[in-house]
Amino acid sequence: MNPLALARPELRSLEPYSSARMEARGGSILLNANESPWPPVGGGGWNRYPDPQPPELVRRLAALYGVASDSLLVGRGSDEGIDLLVRAFCRAGEDAVLVSPPTFGMYALCARVQGAGLVEAPLRDDFTLDVDAVLRAVTRAVKLIFVCAPNNPSGRGVPRAEILRLADGLNGRALLVVDEAYVEFVEAGAGTGSVADCVGELGNLVVLRTLSKAWALAGARVGALLADARVVALLRKLMSPYPLPTPSVDAALKAVSAEGEREMRVRVAAIREERARLGAALAGLGGAHAVLPSQANFVTVRFRDAGRVHAALLRAGVVVRDVRRYPGLHDALRITVGTPAENDRVLDVLRGIRTAAGAPVIAGSEVPA
Ligand SMILES: *Cc1c(COP(=O)(O)O)cnc(C)c1O
Repeated sequence: MNPLALARPELRSLEPYSSARMEARGGSILLNANESPWPPVGGGGWNRYPDPQPPELVRRLAALYGVASDSLLVGRGSDEGIDLLVRAFCRAGEDAVLVSPPTFGMYALCARVQGAGLVEAPLRDDFTLDVDAVLRAVTRAVKLIFVCAPNNPSGRGVPRAEILRLADGLNGRALLVVDEAYVEFVEAGAGTGSVADCVGELGNLVVLRTLSKAWALAGARVGALLADARVVALLRKLMSPYPLPTPSVDAALKAVSAEGEREMRVRVAAIREERARLGAALAGLGGAHAVLPSQANFVTVRFRDAGRVHAALLRAGVVVRDVRRYPGLHDALRITVGTPAENDRVLDVLRGIRTAAGAPVIAGSEVPA
């Protein structure tokens, strides 16, 4: 399947903007880009425009994710990848995006901004993905299906086999975009690992990866989109000419070095351990149904009075995410797994909360004071 058959027809023939940096190969006296010949006050070589796709970073990320270099687009976080895909594949007023709520809000927001339609095939009550419901909901207008795996805000992992079955069912009809922002945190052997290795074989599969979570680089804004090389080439035409600031590229190269990768793995293991400890402690506070199973670096928890818990945590200086606006999560808060001391603080505050009637506010069984 040629995935470009699904793209906006007017973009297929678009000539990309040719930036000065792209033309500069080989020269040593650079007088073609109207840059300052001197570095900025304070140092750093930032007087030069950056490479649009820094080759060293592209090569390293491609090796890390197991794809060919021409199947990888590096950009300003996954958010930019989502926006580029919607702009490239959805005509305003004609095409649509499919999402499975409750899920990450950026997919629907980008669709709205683009004037694309939004089709919903909700997750099941236990937040598992309903592949058959998604396939039934795909109309001719739907060009992109977003699956967040593991899902934000529920934390649930998505079995690889289910994702591949969905990609197969969509072949020729739409692109499947799998947002793997949290995939580094999945339990080994759970069958919910990355599908990045399938990008080479499946022309309609797109995978989004980010350095914002496990790699601790949210402030640098670096993410990668993995897709058929033709999709990558198309998206480069729409992308701004110099998407990645040089300091961000430098920070990313350090973070994903061999040493950085070792440290990342140690930290991810620590977060998984803390996730289990925090989850068990929260469940112990008020009933086993309160804590949703999570494969991400957060736990989403149902409370008898989530507003009250949110306020009490805030008073103690602890900010958690109120996710009550999401369908199926009207009583829930999402708590990012922090350091052991930070997680202890959360547990201390929760242990201290009692309702006016003297009962604990955590959903489930009563616990002694
Ligand atoms: C945090 C998050 C991202 C990361 O976005 P960046 O733009 O790379 O920082 C992507 N998708 C989901 C679902 C997220 O929760």
